[in-house]
Amino acid sequence: MALRTGISYFGNRTLRHVESDMKDIAGAGFDYVVHCFTESDLLWGLESMREIVAISHAAGLEVHLDPWGVAGVFGGEALSKIVTWNTDACQVLGDGTAVGVICLNHPKLLPFLKEWIDAGIDIGADLIFFDEPHWYPGDLWYIGKPAGDADLRWSCRCPVCLERFRDETGRDMPLIRDAEVQRFRADAVLRLTTELIGYTHSKQVTTDLCLLPHGITFDLVGVDDWEPFGAFPGLDYFGTDPYWRAGDTVPMEPYVRPNAAAVRRLCDEHGLRDQYWVQGYGFPRGAEDEIAAAIDIAVEEGMTDIAIWGYRASESMSRLWSGDIDRTWQVVVDALARHR
Ligand SMILES: [Zn+2]
Repeated sequence: MALRTGISYFGNRTLRHVESDMKDIAGAGFDYVVHCFTESDLLWGLESMREIVAISHAAGLEVHLDPWGVAGVFGGEALSKIVTWNTDACQVLGDGTAVGVICLNHPKLLPFLKEWIDAGIDIGADLIFFDEPHWYPGDLWYIGKPAGDADLRWSCRCPVCLERFRDETGRDMPLIRDAEVQRFRADAVLRLTTELIGYTHSKQVTTDLCLLPHGITFDLVGVDDWEPFGAFPGLDYFGTDPYWRAGDTVPMEPYVRPNAAAVRRLCDEHGLRDQYWVQGYGFPRGAEDEIAAAIDIAVEEGMTDIAIWGYRASESMSRLWSGDIDRTWQVVVDALARHR
């Protein structure tokens, strides 16, 4: 079976540059492009995005849309505006601090996300990609140092959650997370994701879910177990994204291989198509060949669809730069070509 391949794209909304990049991506052999469709695009660039989708289609690419950083509840280096208009709906940490992420249990969230989905479908998405749905992930990108007790910096103790927890368990939510709180949080991610996938599927659009990988502690995001997600009616693709050089560097193979095997198992069990994300940014000079090795491992573990984050080593964002952007990109292109 031929390997399907895709690439994420963000950081440029100037159409003539988009056109040249889409031709470059199609020329490099990719089947699809994952456009990061942010709140900023929704507010100020909807027609730009419609053109970008059309340009991508004209280049021969399938178009996936990613709610990058939308409402703060998906992955991505994009900020949310909706949180500034809905401070009453934001998540509250154990220490009482509100954070700029809409609460997964707040009734305002789902209607807003459905508006995003409707807009994405209207501008021509072939697939909607739900990327790392999560609770407040901790102070990963906090600028400076947050005050207070680190054990209390988890969400969510907003009034909606406190009441719901009391209704469901018959007791007040504790200040320190216990097993019941973890289950409450996991249930919320599952409930929201089920709604989003069901809604998108009802519009006859292909759905894709990426959950944060196993093996590194992402316990604050609230998804410990992938199994219930695989059984979603209407889910077409499932995958994960073990980036070994994002944040603290970890050894590549022990992270990439078991996560690929776990995706294979879940997809086989539930009749889903796999999609496996391989890191393609942030490599120091000389480490680029790790990407080719990771792609080889993913294919060995049965992955049939590999997506790379992102186009030309995400060169539009300096925090993600590689030491040698040209070489990083060339390694990606050559490694994928060997498997097609
Ligand atoms: Zn809440």
